Amino acid sequence: MSFWHAAEGLPQPRPALAGDSTADVVIVGAGYTGLWTAYYLKQAQPGLDIAVLEARFAGFGASGRNGGWLTNSITGGRTQYVRTSGRAVVGRFQELLNDTVDEVISVAAAEGIDADIVKGGELNLARNPAQLARLQAWAADEAQWPEAGARLLDRRETDGRAAVAGSLGGLYQPHCARVQPAKLVRGLARTVEAMGVRLYEDTPVTEIRTGTAVTSRGVVRCRHVLRATEGFTAGLRRSHRDWLPMNSSMIVTEPLPASAWAEIGWNGMEAIADMAHAYMYAQRTADGRIALGGRGVPYRFGSRTDDDGATAPATVRRLHSLLGEMFPAACDPRIEQAWSGVLGVPRDWKATVGLDPSTGVGWAGGYVGTGVAAANLAGRTLRDLVLGEDTELTVMPWVNRTVRRWEPEPLRWLGVRAMYQAYYAADRRENRTRSAATSPLARAADLVSGR
Ligand SMILES: Cc1cc2nc3c(=O)[nH]c(=O)nc-3n(C[C@H](O)[C@H](O)[C@H](O)COP(=O)(O)OP(=O)(O)OC[C@H]3O[C@@H](n4cnc5c(N)ncnc54)[C@H](O)[C@@H]3O)c2cc1C
Repeated sequence: MSFWHAAEGLPQPRPALAGDSTADVVIVGAGYTGLWTAYYLKQAQPGLDIAVLEARFAGFGASGRNGGWLTNSITGGRTQYVRTSGRAVVGRFQELLNDTVDEVISVAAAEGIDADIVKGGELNLARNPAQLARLQAWAADEAQWPEAGARLLDRRETDGRAAVAGSLGGLYQPHCARVQPAKLVRGLARTVEAMGVRLYEDTPVTEIRTGTAVTSRGVVRCRHVLRATEGFTAGLRRSHRDWLPMNSSMIVTEPLPASAWAEIGWNGMEAIADMAHAYMYAQRTADGRIALGGRGVPYRFGSRTDDDGATAPATVRRLHSLLGEMFPAACDPRIEQAWSGVLGVPRDWKATVGLDPSTGVGWAGGYVGTGVAAANLAGRTLRDLVLGEDTELTVMPWVNRTVRRWEPEPLRWLGVRAMYQAYYAADRRENRTRSAATSPLARAADLVSGR
């Protein structure tokens, strides 16, 4: 279980599906994607009969385990979308994602969901010369996208926001908020239930077909079935190679003493990451801890997904030592909890949302670790697609994309393993040599991964 859930105490279980049923819309998966979709559909048409079928409990997946960055990223970058859709559309897409951060904040406030939200922006740090060169190249690219509002900070300005050891400079962008992930997803679940959405837990769906969601507890017939299972999608029949389940792991410290915070600063609650190839991400929590994440064992053979968040001791040690390197002022704090979660990676590393009008089957996900905000925009987009409305959201470049499938095993496992070993080796080399050039190992891994 994640610290975020543990801090709240496990939720009261909801009833499972009790036999065959019908609904207008069935949503499979009660994470941010499924719940935001239910929220906006019910808000648009209160008479719609919506059933959410959840394998475990609402927020069991990445939505209850993530780093809590509610941020405006276009998953996988903008370049390919400029080629397919043009500069103006991608600029608008960026603005919509910026606005999505505020949309989540304002709905949470309106619905009385207290998720410790603070909009402090996002700070990406360089910690060696190669990282700095990548950061500067990124900043030069961002300068072409004033919509995103990112700006380069020198070392002094960066340290003024948060004293991270070895920091050489940062890129700051304002459209990001820190959230307590489980509080957000659990609040959403309560909200949609209060609106009249039926939410069944402990009800795994085994197959999605036209007009039907099949579970061992009964079959639900409906006009639309929407798949919102992200990193778990490989477990569904015929979806095994659609999205690769990628693991990410986190640790959280005990609350740090005021003296440590006086040294570190970080009073703006920025979401912090570095520019390593196997990057880290962190937040300062509402109760004064550091929650820090990164890749542990990125992928398990055969797309196995989850061990209820169990995390290898070697991963915990690696993240702990990174924490100590970056925040020596934290004086080797006790690690209170470690956990892992699974996110969905499409073959081209870009998210999709879509609906096949001929079958009524829809989907959203593949956010590659940037779904906290994107799931909200996906939910509003699925609303418009289900209601058959042509809106600005339904013409965004991520809608109804077709993506090729992942390679069969053992190629898939070998490829991902080689890619991450190359990224780890590249990071070690860049730290050791202090050269400003990105390691060729990382360039090769980028080519293999198809990012
Ligand atoms: C450790 C970690 C850190 C991350 N940090 C960030 C971050 O800081 N910022 C960010 O933007 N993104 C982050 N992400 C990614 C982000 O959490 C996800 O993109 C987002 O939560 C996806 O939401 P979702 O609802 O699509 O999927 P999930 O939250 O995974 O929900 C899917 C749900 O479907 C259920 N389910 C699965 N299979 C079935 C089935 N067969 N039948 C019924 N139900 C099923 C699951 O139990 C689960 O509850 C992180 C992810 C991880 C794992």
